Amino acid sequence: MNGRRVRPRAAHTAEPGTSSDASHRDACAVEFHAMSDWNLPWTAACRCERIHMRVTAPPIVTMACHCRGCQRMTASAFSLSMLVPSAGFEIVTGEPVIGGLHGPDRHFHCAYCKSWLFTRPSGMDGFVNIRATMLDDHGWYVPFVETCTAEALPWAKTGAAHSFANIPAPETWGPIVAEFARVGPHP
Ligand SMILES: [Zn+2]
Ligand SMILES: [Zn+2]
Repeated sequence: MNGRRVRPRAAHTAEPGTSSDASHRDACAVEFHAMSDWNLPWTAACRCERIHMRVTAPPIVTMACHCRGCQRMTASAFSLSMLVPSAGFEIVTGEPVIGGLHGPDRHFHCAYCKSWLFTRPSGMDGFVNIRATMLDDHGWYVPFVETCTAEALPWAKTGAAHSFANIPAPETWGPIVAEFARVGPHP
C-alpha cells in the first residue's frame, strides 16, 4: 500500500481560518463528496453505441484487475471498473446480454459489438461493477485498488493506491471504501 496518486482534497472542504480540527474536516469531506462533488449523472456507451447507460450515484471504489480472466475479456493487460450501487445505474437504450463465463458472476455485454459493459457480482445484488472505459467522460478515472497482481504482466503498472496479489478478503474493503470517499479520484 502506498499513497501515490492519492490527492488530499482538503481545499474543497476546509474553510480557511474557521477550524483546526482535521478529523472533523475529514468527516465532512466524506459527506461532501458523496452528495455533491461528482458532477453526476454520467453517461456511458458500448463500442457501437447501441447501448447507452447512465450513472447517477457516486462510485464506492474504483478498481483494476490483472487476473487472466480480465486479461482475456478485455484483450488487454487488466480491466478497469467502478463499483456503484445498483440504484444508481440504469440502461438508457439497448438490452445487454450475458457473456463471459455465464456463471454466478454475471458479465453483461452488448449483443452486437460484444463490449463488456458491467458485471453483477454473485451475492452482491445491491451493486454493479461498471467498466470504467465505457464512460463518455473518463479522464478523471484512476483505479484506487488493483487486484490479482500475481497474474499481472510484468510491465503492467496502474499506480493504484492499494495493491493486492489476489482478491482481498471481504473485511479488507471497509477501510479502503472509507478512504476512497475521502481522497479517491473523481471528476
Ligand atoms: Zn455495442
Ligand atoms: Zn479480474
